[in-house]
Amino acid sequence: MPIYDKSQQKIAEKINLITTRNDSKIHISNWKNWRWQVKHTIRDISIFEKLLNIKFSALEKKGLEVTMAKFPLSITPYYLSLINKDNYKNDPIFKQSFPSKAELRITKYDMRDPLAEDKDCPVPGITHRYPDRVLLQVSNICAMYCRHCTRKRKVGDIDSIPDKKEIAKGIKYIKNTPVVRDVLLSGGDPFMLPDDYIDWILFELRKIPHIEIIRIGTRTPVVLPYRITDDLVSILKKYHPLWVNTHFNHPREITASSKEALAKLADAGIPLGNQSVLLADVNDCPRIMKSLLHKLVQNRIRPYYMYQCDLTEGLSHFRTPIGKGIEILESLIGHTSGFCIPTYVIDAPGGGGKIPIMPNYLISWSTNKVVLRNYEGIITTYKEPDSYEPIFCDRDCDECKLHLHLDGAEESKAIGIGKLLNDYDKTISLIPRDNERINRRDS
Ligand SMILES: *Cc1c(COP(=O)(O)O)cnc(C)c1O
Repeated sequence: MPIYDKSQQKIAEKINLITTRNDSKIHISNWKNWRWQVKHTIRDISIFEKLLNIKFSALEKKGLEVTMAKFPLSITPYYLSLINKDNYKNDPIFKQSFPSKAELRITKYDMRDPLAEDKDCPVPGITHRYPDRVLLQVSNICAMYCRHCTRKRKVGDIDSIPDKKEIAKGIKYIKNTPVVRDVLLSGGDPFMLPDDYIDWILFELRKIPHIEIIRIGTRTPVVLPYRITDDLVSILKKYHPLWVNTHFNHPREITASSKEALAKLADAGIPLGNQSVLLADVNDCPRIMKSLLHKLVQNRIRPYYMYQCDLTEGLSHFRTPIGKGIEILESLIGHTSGFCIPTYVIDAPGGGGKIPIMPNYLISWSTNKVVLRNYEGIITTYKEPDSYEPIFCDRDCDECKLHLHLDGAEESKAIGIGKLLNDYDKTISLIPRDNERINRRDS
């Protein structure tokens, strides 16, 4: 019985030959068994060559070995089968999965940990950056090592796979931190853990009364879609509201197999999001991006973020100028359904969190009019109200004429720009700690 297509059948048969010296036909149930896929993950250039029927020169190989000593190769047979071997050097699947000597180039502004995740880390495995939500790294394993990984510093780092005791410490931190209402499970890939382990983590998190939502970030629907089994889905379903964010970067990654995986998740009532990374020579093109977004939406995934590539060491060849992202947004906003359009973000170097970037639509304004332009270039005006009675807000909601009874809403202090905008905080400016003029006043 053929697998999905001829090239997948051929790859499966070759793997069978290489690994078991058995030339009998391999059955579809093997190919679609995620454990079979993981067991036969390709980590070696010569096997990669054999499977795709390609040959690197001795010089190329030498360069690749140097890269792989630092950033290893790991690709599932399934993801490898998506590479177009006739033009592999320009193939977006190949570029995301196969090492390049450009990864050894470290530019002046590159950082090991650009998002300072290891600093905003109250206990191992937790990154607590935003007021009400935390990132919990539950796994350090991935089915495929994305060459553009933002956590490249940890790729292949088998020494730091968290065990149950370590994860329990992270869960305890969440339990003891009542402001946290949203937990993001990330890694590595949380779905690389065994079912019962995932079940245990979700069970423990769901016991915490202040946790409203749980999110899981996974690339398995892209690189190992067979991981989305009925058993896994029936575990996930028990812990709603549970959201899943995946990571498709190119329309070619949407295949019969990935569609099947996505349908299982969506049918289980799991809202699906997608986080793409804008990558040079992979998806830095308005047409490719639009085609990807349309395919995502057809598969019930709401595009969530499009990331500017981080300043991680070894990613300089993947980075595009910010202008490319803005150009892509220009081609989308107004031109396609609003919910096809992700928010374009730069994750602030140093750990400031995600910063949204947009083309400018507000051109000018006077005391009662704003001037806007639309996606077609039409310049228009919006007349603001002649009278608007500002409501002085002292945060005494019981006395407020809006009569909003905010049952259970917690009192949060204003922070950041919100501090400057509100009526009840006396702060009139935010001043950098090392401002010389202010320091002179104090001394
Ligand atoms: C991205 C991220 C989050 C979640 O941010 P959202 O904008 O809510 O998706 C939380 N914590 C960390 C450390 C993150 O990097």
